[in-house]
Amino acid sequence: MAERHEILDGLPVFEPGWVWLVGAGPGDPGLVTLHALNALSQADVVVYDALVDKRVLGHAREGAAVEYAGKRGGKPSPSQRDISLKLIALARAGKRVCRLKGGDPFVFGRGGEEALALVEAGIPFRIVPGISAGIGGLAYAGIPVTHRDVNHAVTFLTGHDQSGLTPSSIDWAGVARGAPVIVMYMALKHLGQIAASLIEAGRLASEPVAVISEATTTTQRVLETTLGTAAAEVEQGGLQPPAIVVVGEVVRMRSGLDWLGAMSGRVLVADPLGRSVRTDKTGTE
Ligand code: SAH
Repeated sequence: MAERHEILDGLPVFEPGWVWLVGAGPGDPGLVTLHALNALSQADVVVYDALVDKRVLGHAREGAAVEYAGKRGGKPSPSQRDISLKLIALARAGKRVCRLKGGDPFVFGRGGEEALALVEAGIPFRIVPGISAGIGGLAYAGIPVTHRDVNHAVTFLTGHDQSGLTPSSIDWAGVARGAPVIVMYMALKHLGQIAASLIEAGRLASEPVAVISEATTTTQRVLETTLGTAAAEVEQGGLQPPAIVVVGEVVRMRSGLDWLGAMSGRVLVADPLGRSVRTDKTGTE
């Protein structure tokens, strides 16, 4: 358990009876914010998720209770309601409750649901954003989520809903015609079906796709594939969740920006899109 560091001086005091919903980032403990460290250094109870790295939990205050409340792959145990009730009960007992979630609590993390349960119960709370896997995970794979030559918009979506099925509320044709880059959470299980829907709606089967599993951790794996072959190659390659799937030309940037690969000898190319150097001097983005 870590000592409280002076860099946290001046950050908010964690009052008893409060719940802080805290993003722990995608995995690499270096991607935890100072607000998250500040929360961990004061909390009486840390209620953490499946995707929170154990080294992050190591920053909990000495003597803090550290409890697992994870759920994976749509498995309903413990139920969301039970987790919310637990947070409420702990806060009512006068604890400082740190609800630690993978990535960002408000990105496909049910942070909103938990916070609303607190509102209903009259429990005061704070939100600490975190680096989401769909942005930070891409960066660790050497893929920029936006690049001026490629896309001015990006779509984030989840590949399955609470029931474990592909969300029926997603308008796949609309998604396909929308942003040039699509970042998908929880999409591995239904990748074949999702890719087929996107192709049917006009995306090219040859479009580049990257699948990044266990992004930002020491066991990160990146598969570069295409929309048409992604599902089969994921299966062949044995890639497992958690994984982010990114569809779009930004994936090609990887041959220039795979900085992690470069550390182990990959030679990066300065013109990954195969275009000549930009002549545009007016851009300010
Ligand atoms: N709140 C989280 C997302 C929770 S949903 C965030 O902002 O990142 C869980 C999904 O997030 C996983 O199924 C996977 O798609 C993605 N994910 C989370 N951590 C990941 C990681 N380290 N590598 C790849 N995908 C990850």
